[in-house]
Amino acid sequence: MKLEGKIAVVTGASKGIGAGIAKALGAAGATVVVNYASSKADADAVVAQIQGQGGKAVAIQADISLSADVVRLFDTVRADFGALDILVNNAGVAVFQMIEDLTEDAFHQQFNLNVLGYLLAVREAVKLFGPSGSIINISSILSTDPYLASSVYSATKGAVDTLTFALARELGPRGIRVNSILPGHTNTPATEGNFAGAFGEQLIAGTPLGRFGEPEDIAPLAVFLASDDSHWVTGESIRASGG
Ligand code: NAP
Repeated sequence: MKLEGKIAVVTGASKGIGAGIAKALGAAGATVVVNYASSKADADAVVAQIQGQGGKAVAIQADISLSADVVRLFDTVRADFGALDILVNNAGVAVFQMIEDLTEDAFHQQFNLNVLGYLLAVREAVKLFGPSGSIINISSILSTDPYLASSVYSATKGAVDTLTFALARELGPRGIRVNSILPGHTNTPATEGNFAGAFGEQLIAGTPLGRFGEPEDIAPLAVFLASDDSHWVTGESIRASGG
């Protein structure tokens, strides 16, 4: 129970990687705020699973791309728990388009959630941290190894790695560590059907451990980065991708 007594917010925790991380943080003893955008039933199910293992969790709706929603989310955390120790910036969206098909809407949708949303959450979270804290930004291996039709999405994740490093420097003197996790190709609702056929075979061939990831493959690294076991680690971007 290395996170006993800690309060954690995980954005986009109603499914996929965020749900996996929320459950692992809960199992390690943290009280977990399970944020979601629209899938209340899924978020409630994650909360129920955490509680079923003896953990503590609540679900809070907020669209992380909207400043007013992010402020409301962290105001609720302040009112309910009084403090915060761990923020996992996970809520993200991917729109894969060849450059000829680029739309400004798709650009803003991805940058507003994947980059602005992460920054807004950090802005509000740091007001609640005590003398220490851990921020974990979910990036992607596409930040350094983009594939076809991913220019905008990969650029958002490159920005996540850079803002991670910049914020680690800015927040280090306040005892707040900031790291990013770069998942590889991971089975989640977002990727359902994406890894079929020859494309999927090509991705597996480029993965030394020879399979797609699962949220449970990513979550232990988040627990490590959230805990004091990683007390000397900040500003790092760590791949969790099977190689
Ligand atoms: P997912 O299955 O689509 O789940 C996305 C989660 O984010 C859901 O809980 C969703 O909530 C929430 N969400 C979406 N828009 C939101 C918003 N505006 N405000 C708040 N929450 C919002 O996605 P995933 O595959 O688990 O991806 C999670 C993160 O990992 C993303 O940052 C993604 O870029 C990154 N990643 C994924 C992979 C992969 O292969 N899956 C690889 C590398 C990196 P609702 O259900 O309520 O909409």
